[in-house]
Amino acid sequence: MFWKRWASRDRAPRLRRGSFRDLLLSMLTFGTVVGVATPLVAKQLLHMEQALTIRFGVISVSMGLLLGCVNFKLFEALVLGRIAKVVRGMRAISRSVAGAADDPEELSKIRKLDVTSDDPIGQAAAVFNDMADSISRRIAVESRTRKLLAELSANVELEPVSRQILEAVASVCGAKAGVLYGDTGQRLDLLASFGIDRAKDLPGRIDATQGLAERALMTGGLLFVCPEREGLEWIQLSTPLGGFHPTSLALVPLMAEQRPVGLAAVACVEDELSERQRLLLDAIRMQAAPYLHTAILHKKLRELAAVDELTRILNRRFGVRRLDEEFSRSVRHGVPVSVIMMDIDRFKALNDTFGHDAGDVVLTAVASSLESNVRSGDVVCRYGGDEFMIVAPGMGVNDAAAAAERFRRIIETSPVRWGDQSLHVTVSCGAASWPVVRASSGEEIVTAADEALYHAKESGRNCVSVHQGDKVTPLPPIAENAEPVSL
Ligand code: GH3
Ligand code: MG
Repeated sequence: MFWKRWASRDRAPRLRRGSFRDLLLSMLTFGTVVGVATPLVAKQLLHMEQALTIRFGVISVSMGLLLGCVNFKLFEALVLGRIAKVVRGMRAISRSVAGAADDPEELSKIRKLDVTSDDPIGQAAAVFNDMADSISRRIAVESRTRKLLAELSANVELEPVSRQILEAVASVCGAKAGVLYGDTGQRLDLLASFGIDRAKDLPGRIDATQGLAERALMTGGLLFVCPEREGLEWIQLSTPLGGFHPTSLALVPLMAEQRPVGLAAVACVEDELSERQRLLLDAIRMQAAPYLHTAILHKKLRELAAVDELTRILNRRFGVRRLDEEFSRSVRHGVPVSVIMMDIDRFKALNDTFGHDAGDVVLTAVASSLESNVRSGDVVCRYGGDEFMIVAPGMGVNDAAAAAERFRRIIETSPVRWGDQSLHVTVSCGAASWPVVRASSGEEIVTAADEALYHAKESGRNCVSVHQGDKVTPLPPIAENAEPVSL
């Protein structure tokens, strides 16, 4: 039937059913009623005899129907046109919002609906804008945190995890500088920073912001403050374009298992955070904190596993692992690598005379003396008992022998305090170096250095012997006033 087809044809955005069809029917019914009533009214009030003729009746009903149709068309043109425009806009927005779930770039394409009136159509457009806004915010939060989580879950190392968290917080705030502190023990340690000169000085300087940091950590909530009002106008950040005072500081505590594990502090140029930024920061800190916690624990465990309990230097297992790494690197780059094996002379006698605790103090003193006298990049480990190993990447055999001699002299001339006594200890050293020793592994250099150490012990102790590849020789005497090799 024509009517059914008309009513059911796809007239989007005109609505096929419901209020618009009802409106059309009402208009037509109203027209018919007016058309039927007109002859009766004309007869009664105007005494028109022709009013009750069929011809007049048909004309009157037709006019009524025409009036109904014109009314509907006027309504369609005025109201339905505006509704159709709003619906088109809504469709475009909902397409972008749906697409944004996969591609967050789509969010930037969303244009708001024009709200041109405060009638129900304008109100509907405004409400839709608000709804699209809040869905977009949620999608932005979800996609930012999804990206961060993907990055964080690919890593357990503290350094990249800290950097990623700080970058995420800073990008949300549009910050030009920031720091991330981690609760790695008794106090907050600087884990990552950007946009700050001499970031290493910060732990000292952060004391001045201690109260603020504590406030943020105590409440566990986001803190957005104006440095000037907090008496922190001294905070000046350096950028390539010069120093600047941040307008505001955002302090973002990271809590895991209901205790603080870190604090991100970023310097912002805006003086308020938007609701979207706050939502994002909350999501980031909730999701990132457990990863930071795990990375800190991982680092602690690794340090515990790598460190000798008594002397706090690397243990043999990790020292050997480092040697293997350095040996492979040296072979790859064709640069020498040296190993010095050092053993305390007559240590057993020292233990027997002064007791095991005195021996422990001597071992710790020798270890810390070695640590503070090697070059950065050299590896010191307790190889076992009273034996130490020093790995010196890039150092040739002669420099290694001279370095061993320097260590020997330092230890010989640095008595260890034990109560009111001074314990004098000496050490013997053996040095070996690749490629002078044609070793094919780190272990083979250790064997050669051990051979040289044995030679030093045999030669009367408190001296250095060097493996020359085909034989072991004592260190040629070094003139008393010779400059020690700088390590
Ligand atoms: P040498 O000059 O030939 O090296 O004589 P030495 O007495 O030092 O002999 P050796 O190196 O074999 O002795 C190692 C001693 O180190 C034996 C052991 O009692 C002692 N020792 C090993 N580990 C520890 C430790 O952790 N603490 C203390 N106090 N002594 C230790
Ligand atoms: Mg010994």
